[in-house]
Amino acid sequence: MPGKRSHFEPAYLYGGEIDTHFHASKLSDRGLETEEVLTAAFGSGLRACIDVGLAEDDIEARHKLLDEHSGVYFAHGLYPSNAARDDLRDAMDRLRSSYDRHHVCALGEIGIDRRRDYGTSEQQKRLFAEQIELANELRLPVIVHNRDAERDILDVLASHAPQRESVMHCYSGPAEMVSRFLDFGFSISFGGNVTFKNAPALREALDLVPIDRLLLETDAPFLAPHPRRGRPNYPGLIGYTYKAVAEHRQLSPFELIASVVSNAKRVFELELDPL
Ligand SMILES: [Zn+2]
Repeated sequence: MPGKRSHFEPAYLYGGEIDTHFHASKLSDRGLETEEVLTAAFGSGLRACIDVGLAEDDIEARHKLLDEHSGVYFAHGLYPSNAARDDLRDAMDRLRSSYDRHHVCALGEIGIDRRRDYGTSEQQKRLFAEQIELANELRLPVIVHNRDAERDILDVLASHAPQRESVMHCYSGPAEMVSRFLDFGFSISFGGNVTFKNAPALREALDLVPIDRLLLETDAPFLAPHPRRGRPNYPGLIGYTYKAVAEHRQLSPFELIASVVSNAKRVFELELDPL
């Protein structure tokens, strides 16, 4: 609509941060204009961000939207909500062939969600396993969504382990499961919810992640960090999460930024522009 502008919060960044997980294609659902919020984020010092896919056919549009920002990287995969699709075979074929045409740094977002009605546990496990195998063929890491499904996820990993170091994204599982995922070679990524006052269990999980296996993300437009909780989220707000995590881990924000950026470079094999 001509003249319509989105209203969004000013960026909050120290400078040099990476956001390892956001969804460009969902920003407009929360009234945000992608170009505008990314220009604000990069203009305020964001170093890089990874736009994560949800369906086999979303990658062209995401490239078109984001390609002019050199700090944007892409992941591409089928979200668990695709598990019960009638045309899943066809979708998997199209997903598989699209990796030839698009440069991506990870396969995702994939996984299992037991809180939503995304198909049976068997259907979700099958799609998850199949995409891990595809990632292994393509030598890509996977980005894993887990909602109340630790057992199913570990079940699949037991016979379909990712060969590349991979990511448990927006960690929300119990603290005692962290070591199981670390043992499978995962890095653990925390979203804005780790800053919430009522999330001591998440910070307990955070305490168990070695600094060289820690990633941070917005999962924007969802889960805006404290003190912007409940409002639309975008990569420019990730400084709040770095702040809260640095305080909790008793690190300087700049030490934390250096660690997370170096972890992300390693996991996703990113060639970042120098600062
Ligand atoms: Zn996500």
